[in-house]
Amino acid sequence: MRTKLICSIDEASMILESGNLVAIPTETVYGLAADALNSEAVKKIFQVKGRPADNPLIVHISEFEDLEKFVLEVPKKAELLCNKFWPGPLTMIFKKKSIIPDIVTANLGCVAIRMPSLEITRKLISKLGRPLAAPSANISGRPSPTSYAHVLNDLDGKISAILMGEDCSVGVESTVIDVTSTPIRLLRPGKISPEEISDYICEKIIVDDSVDHSVSNLKEVRSPGVKYKHYSPKTKIVLVKGTSHQFAQFVNSQYNCVSVCFEEDISLISGDKLSYGSMFSESDQLKFLFDRLRRVDSFNLSVAYVHLSSEVKQNLAVLNRLFRASGFNILEL
Ligand code: AMP
Ligand code: MG
Repeated sequence: MRTKLICSIDEASMILESGNLVAIPTETVYGLAADALNSEAVKKIFQVKGRPADNPLIVHISEFEDLEKFVLEVPKKAELLCNKFWPGPLTMIFKKKSIIPDIVTANLGCVAIRMPSLEITRKLISKLGRPLAAPSANISGRPSPTSYAHVLNDLDGKISAILMGEDCSVGVESTVIDVTSTPIRLLRPGKISPEEISDYICEKIIVDDSVDHSVSNLKEVRSPGVKYKHYSPKTKIVLVKGTSHQFAQFVNSQYNCVSVCFEEDISLISGDKLSYGSMFSESDQLKFLFDRLRRVDSFNLSVAYVHLSSEVKQNLAVLNRLFRASGFNILEL
């Protein structure tokens, strides 16, 4: 099968209607989309990605009114959060109606739903007239794609088409919260922070232990996705925590390595290096992180050292992706 690069929403909608897959741009990362109400189409997502069947998918809608078609109840707090953050990179977990096939939710009684803010994505959902199930459009375990070129790298020949769009403006997957639990629980950090959410609803929210702990040390796993290796290039990733000078001194004494560092470190490092943004810009780090994790493989070196700052408090979503990409392999200088 040849993977077509397409620009037409009508063409993408026709492919989806026929039960096939289209990779789509969103503001977070590129998604691998199927008609969420067609079990056979959704099955193809798991096959193409090599995704374990117990890892549920997020359902994407284009209008607030669609929510009640798919969920049993919308708690008051969730309604407030929809009004504030939708469309946008916030996914909420609700009790599901039976119209959502069990394959989408990995047989859980709850479904994760979000409304993306990128207009082309919502137009496609409206055109199709059905919700889209869409995980990130990468082979399972690899860094998520933030450009159509990344998708092509992973899935060329495996899917019908890629709807071409701009590079993703956010760059990491949506924030996932469980609104069926009291207090609300953060299962995956994203651009919308737990502080923003709790400030808005004037209530504390719980950050699930899996966000910043290895699941091998946890008793209970609430978000099945966290059990699996994720966001990893082929090159071994080691996180190195220290000041810019400590980091530079460390990597300058190592061989066969590439550094993934801050803009501010670049002039201090003599070997191969890639910047993932200024240490003071959370949004740049979110936007560039996955692209840099993909690019480390092109150096063909045995290890990539990623700088974690000991001077600046880093964004929880950036840290979460790096903890997982490295398998919690952290060196403190
Ligand atoms: P991805 O599809 O790669 O963006 O990952 C989706 C994330 O949301 C995974 O970590 C899933 O475990 C989580 N998720 C999706 N649906 C549910 C659900 N019904 N209950 C709990 N977590 C979910
Ligand atoms: Mg993913």
